[in-house]
Amino acid sequence: MTAAQRHRVTVIPGDGVGPEVTRSAVRVIEAAGVAVDWEEAEAGAEVFRRGDSSGVPSETRDSIERTRVVLKGPLETPIGFGEKSANVTLRKLFETYANVRPARELPGVPTRYAGEGVDMVIVRENVEDLYAGIEHMQTPDVGQCLKIISRKGSEKVIRYAFELARREGRTKVTCATKANIMKLTEGLFKRVFEEMAPEYPEIEPEHLIIDNVAHQFAKAPAQFDIVVTTNLNGDIISDLASGLVGGLGFAASGNYGAEVAIFEAVHGSAPKYAGRDVINPTALILSAVMMLRHLGEHAAADTVENAVFVTLESGAAVTQDLARQTGGDIEHAASTTGYTDAVIANLGRRPANPPRGRGHVRPAQSPTPRPAWSYAADAYGRISRRLVGVDVMIESDLSVAVLAADLEAAAGPALRLETVTSRGTKIWPGEVVGDSVRWYTGRFVAPEGGVEPDEGEILALLGRIGARHRWTQVERLQAFDGQDGFTKAAGE
Ligand code: NAP
Repeated sequence: MTAAQRHRVTVIPGDGVGPEVTRSAVRVIEAAGVAVDWEEAEAGAEVFRRGDSSGVPSETRDSIERTRVVLKGPLETPIGFGEKSANVTLRKLFETYANVRPARELPGVPTRYAGEGVDMVIVRENVEDLYAGIEHMQTPDVGQCLKIISRKGSEKVIRYAFELARREGRTKVTCATKANIMKLTEGLFKRVFEEMAPEYPEIEPEHLIIDNVAHQFAKAPAQFDIVVTTNLNGDIISDLASGLVGGLGFAASGNYGAEVAIFEAVHGSAPKYAGRDVINPTALILSAVMMLRHLGEHAAADTVENAVFVTLESGAAVTQDLARQTGGDIEHAASTTGYTDAVIANLGRRPANPPRGRGHVRPAQSPTPRPAWSYAADAYGRISRRLVGVDVMIESDLSVAVLAADLEAAAGPALRLETVTSRGTKIWPGEVVGDSVRWYTGRFVAPEGGVEPDEGEILALLGRIGARHRWTQVERLQAFDGQDGFTKAAGE
């Protein structure tokens, strides 16, 4: 896309402080002379209230299909009950698989790390993981959320991170996982990272466990360049990263997919500040800068970014959140509107002390996906697989000894009871450890070296268990190319 053309952008004002910050970002973009035809669209709380359980009405989806670019305010999600997050739905509907969250030291924003040159970009996988949102109550008191990590999803976001490093001349990509605990999910993400790293010999690959990343962020954040990570890890450490450089009022983000890009602040709807004209709009203005770069409007993006730097540097318009951090005058802090006016007045000026480091200057191009054939059925057909048993999850009030005796009786020669576990810990055979939550897993395995159990045997086993117990879930135990595709229990 070239500059000096008209752009069409869907703008979603959103909930809480959303309309205030989007108004501010739109004003700044227009003042910078970028020609945008805005299509205003709805999503979030009001849509839920009208009974649309997706939170994203079809008119909004149609607008995004047309414009392919979205500037959006935060959307409110009921916490712990109610409908799914409309934010997550938007990201998933348009497969914006890379959530890019830069965190850079800003002029005039004092932090504990001032002068160290913090300048990192977090690339968070945005579609999979626990945010697939596949949850089931197994009993009235036991909930379960499936953590989904795919090779394809991991490859897409990891390639995005390496391509971003290459385009921005960055030299290190840190992969942050919890692969020591979740070996088959976070471990897959780490393996894919290690497989892809040699394609980028000029970039130093590094793997750190996510808890150590949190520790290193607090201790020496300037060591990080690009950090690529799974969805939940990324959600948490990107808020942490924003805290290192001044807080959520300054944290911008872009959600990039092959077709659609959605730009939004990292922060939420901050309901206590809604309608008060006190919120800091910098986060969304800097998200709009990312959007301008995505649209090819690099000069305008630089102009707006510089105007933000000048405004912060001059200290002439300090919003409440920054005044609080600097011990400034909160009573007379700049309003959202006043701060926006100052940024507009500073368009065309350059900061005396621009931030050190690269910042986030250009989005990675949509990476070339792995050839389609490599995900095709015949490619998977070449992987040998063997069914070695089944896990059956059961709700029960029986003692472990009685339950195990019952399950042994239900087992047959094709599938014998190997263990009973509770929340991933072995409690039979041997000592019962841990507290009962009335939910157990019976692991039934085929005799080693014997024939694979067939469907009939599995169904017959389930029938025998179901006649006496309430089973809630069944998982096949498969080995792929001789490797177990399932984990052992603690204590096994
Ligand atoms: P939040 O809205 O991000 O607010 C948390 C705190 O962060 C605020 O109380 C405020 O801190 C500070 N803050 C946030 N934005 C700021 C800004 N622009 N300027 C200055 N300070 C700012 O998080 P929440 O209260 O946990 O979530 C509220 C709702 O937003 C929830 O429904 C949640 O689901 C939703 N949410 C949406 C998105 C999204 O749309 N992408 C993201 C996150 C959360 P102080 O109290 O210290 O002043």
